[in-house]
Amino acid sequence: MMNRQFKYPDTKAYNFVMERMKERGVDFDELAKTIYKSQVKFEPNLSMDRVKQYLEDTMHKRELLNNAMVALELDRLTQEKVIAEPLASIIKNDAGVFGVDETLALQIANIYGTIGTTNFGFYDREKDGIIDSFDTDPEHVNTFIDDLLAAIVAAVSGKIAHKYA
Ligand code: MG
Repeated sequence: MMNRQFKYPDTKAYNFVMERMKERGVDFDELAKTIYKSQVKFEPNLSMDRVKQYLEDTMHKRELLNNAMVALELDRLTQEKVIAEPLASIIKNDAGVFGVDETLALQIANIYGTIGTTNFGFYDREKDGIIDSFDTDPEHVNTFIDDLLAAIVAAVSGKIAHKYA
């Protein structure tokens, strides 16, 4: 039942996502560099400070926080064997026909408009630097976090494209 008195915990959600991502080994400076490298060829005036600011703005968006919390928790719960079968095996084996990881990620990629969809498709295939290191780590369940990273890069790239258009 929807509780209209409930106040959305913006700060707690932001802190949760940032802390969990850092625990998982995400380096936000590296993420900013990935974004910068991919966008500076289109926007020669782009600076790293700008990219860091846009990344920070994006990380505060509720649409991002909601989808990121679900994604991060599903990886963790699968890792800790709390998820029921057959869902656990589907997630653990990153089954190609699953697609819920991409669905959650696409909502994030589209925060700043549909240009994010195109960007997401690109990063999902290219698996640039930091994203790739998650996709190929066999020790952890990474089914959701790699798409989450690609989506964040895609969303910020979309924001940059609009700002400089
Ligand atoms: Mg995935």
